[in-house]
Amino acid sequence: MTTSSQTKLLGIFGNPLAHTLSPKMHSYFAEKTGKDVTYLAFEVEKEDFKPSVLQAKTMGALGFNITSPYKIDVLDVVDVLDAEAKRMGSVNTIVNREGKWCGYNTDGDGFVDSFERILGSFQKKDVLMLGAGGSARSIAYKLAQKGAGSVTISSRTKEKILPIEDLVKEYTKFYACEEIDTDKQYDIVINLTPLGMHPHEEENPFNKYMDMITDKTLCCDLIYNPKKTRFLQEAEAKGAKIMNGLPMLVMQGIYAFELFCDCKLPEECFNEALALFKDFRI
Ligand code: NAP
Repeated sequence: MTTSSQTKLLGIFGNPLAHTLSPKMHSYFAEKTGKDVTYLAFEVEKEDFKPSVLQAKTMGALGFNITSPYKIDVLDVVDVLDAEAKRMGSVNTIVNREGKWCGYNTDGDGFVDSFERILGSFQKKDVLMLGAGGSARSIAYKLAQKGAGSVTISSRTKEKILPIEDLVKEYTKFYACEEIDTDKQYDIVINLTPLGMHPHEEENPFNKYMDMITDKTLCCDLIYNPKKTRFLQEAEAKGAKIMNGLPMLVMQGIYAFELFCDCKLPEECFNEALALFKDFRI
């Protein structure tokens, strides 16, 4: 697509961003909808992040995705915060509405809606989540709100559990553990730690507990590079159905683009966007 004086700026802030798939994905969405936007990656240092976001607003940029490590820092420069993003305590999408940065979080919906498309229903299912970081917060909240039977968080840092417990308990049963109870059964196991990704490719965060995985278990990893982490490879060998982080990336991107451009993307965009990334697609 060519740019003109009317072309609006979209982009992503984060660090590092060398391998981000977002520019290719959003350029595809722009082409699909004919929206006059261009999408660029801005890998900025911590001290430059907030000034850059404020400057971009005065330049009339339309919106940005915000990724690691700035999903919490961005709260300081958002003018209007969506109620759910406020509860999750993190923002992954900002949209310029009449000179105000409006903040949203599409990660939770991105995960649960892609899960349903790839692996099926999570209604009433018992979910075990490994890790309690920013993504865990938004995903636990949405799983609970949309019908999971229970949510258990395993985290080495106890303090990170409490805010998640508050979000989840409003909707469903919540449990926390440092060591996993092998007498319990989980329908769904999700890796939300960086274990399995460079430089931890050889690590499986569920290593000691793989006997708990059966051909009925649904296993997910938020990582998509490598496309099958050690955890997913071993789960698949036990007959489990698996999903990596690519479907979530695409779904949260669809919801972000819809907020940026105030439009609805056609249904086929999900599969077409997945197909753009053959190296990461399971
Ligand atoms: P985060 O906020 O940094 O949280 C990471 C979590 O992993 C924390 O609970 C952390 O525990 C735990 N952890 C880190 N190293 C560990 C280790 N060696 N042993 C045990 N636990 C460990 O990160 P995030 O934003 O939630 O992202 C989590 C993962 O999801 C990353 O791999 C990220 O790339 C991926 N992600 C994917 C998508 C997607 O669209 N597919 C979107 C967002 C994130 P401590 O607090 O104790 O350090």
